Order: sequence, then structure tokens, then C-alpha cells
Amino acid sequence: MLTVDFNSYLQTVPDRLGWSLDISDIFSVSSTRSFLDNGLITSTDITTRWNNWVPIKLNILTWRVKLQSIPTRETLSSTGILVETIMCPICSCLVETVHHLFVGCSDLMDIWTRIAIWWGLNLPDPITIHSLLSWSDIVTLRASQRKIFDAVVITTFWCIWNFRNAIIFGTVIPKKALFFDDVVHKAFFWISNRCKKAKLGWSTWLHNPSFITM
Ligand SMILES: [Zn+2]
Repeated sequence: MLTVDFNSYLQTVPDRLGWSLDISDIFSVSSTRSFLDNGLITSTDITTRWNNWVPIKLNILTWRVKLQSIPTRETLSSTGILVETIMCPICSCLVETVHHLFVGCSDLMDIWTRIAIWWGLNLPDPITIHSLLSWSDIVTLRASQRKIFDAVVITTFWCIWNFRNAIIFGTVIPKKALFFDDVVHKAFFWISNRCKKAKLGWSTWLHNPSFITM
């Protein structure tokens, strides 16, 4: 009969706590940060393009849209959160996915056409979240104008999200007829206040935004 002396395998060292996220067994902030990033942030091959001519909160929103991490009704429901309905609060016709809200909702989808007409540009084909956020890459604008146009696109995403939230949580239902005007006004306000080099005149902004010089 084989007998094993387990005591010979035990070490006579005091018990201690170890940090399993680092091979050194010692706690480090960087290993914790790496663990959280890998677990919480979805990897994507879409480049994040931060635009400092609009507030940071708008950049964060579009970043989350790219990652499909916006709490739409469908997203909330799929994560086990009980929601009253998963239908789009704007059109009430289809499930409120991230793609539907920002690109496919029949009640708001003409906003992208109106922006294309306003700037004298062709719409990307196909129209997707990714193609809209990289729209400026395929248009014939100078670099500084492309940054202004990017700011307009980001502002539009922000206005869509706020329009949706106002319908669900607001006390006054926003008017769809004023949605495009809201985008134009907000983009003008932010860009003209954050980019002093841009000679933004209200008339040029309304009628020939692609003529704006720096
Ligand atoms: Zn809809």
C-alpha cells in the first residue's frame, strides 16, 4: 500500500493574501485597470474620433453608440431589465435597437437626408452608424471643414438621443418638425463658441456651411 506524507509538501510559511490578477501576486492599479477594461469595454475595430468643437458628453455618447452600449429598450430587455415595452418610443412600429433609433426610425430618418442637402453632400451608402460617423472621410471638404461637419454629425446623434428621452421622460412631447432646426442651432452654438478660428456667420451657416473658412 502506497502512503504519502502530505506534511512534506506543506510549507511552513504564514498565510497571506495574494493578488491573482498579476503574475507577481502583488496588487497593482494597472492590473486592475486591465482587468476592468477587458471585462467591461467591448472591443471594436472602429476608430474613436474625438471632436473638441462639441462638448465631451457628445463624444462619449457617440463612442457608446459605436460600442452598441446605449440603454435602448431592447438593450435593457436583453440584459434582463424589465421594461414596459421594447418598441421604439418615437415611431412605435419596430423594436428600439441602437441601429433603429439612430439610423432606421421612419419618423427621424429624414434628418440625415436633410443634413446631406444642407451641406450639399451625398449620403453614405449604405447608411449605418459606422458610415455616418465616418461620413466626412468620403466627402470633398477641406480638413477643417470636415471637422465642422463631424461636429454636426455628432450633434445629430446627441439630438436624436435627447429627442427620444424627452418623449419617454419629458413633460412636453418635442415636435418632430423642429428637430432639424434644433440640430442646426445646437451645432452652431457649440462650434462657434469652441472654435474661435472658424468665422461662423449665421447666414453662411444656414445656407452654405461648406463655404465656412478658417
Ligand atoms: Zn422608431
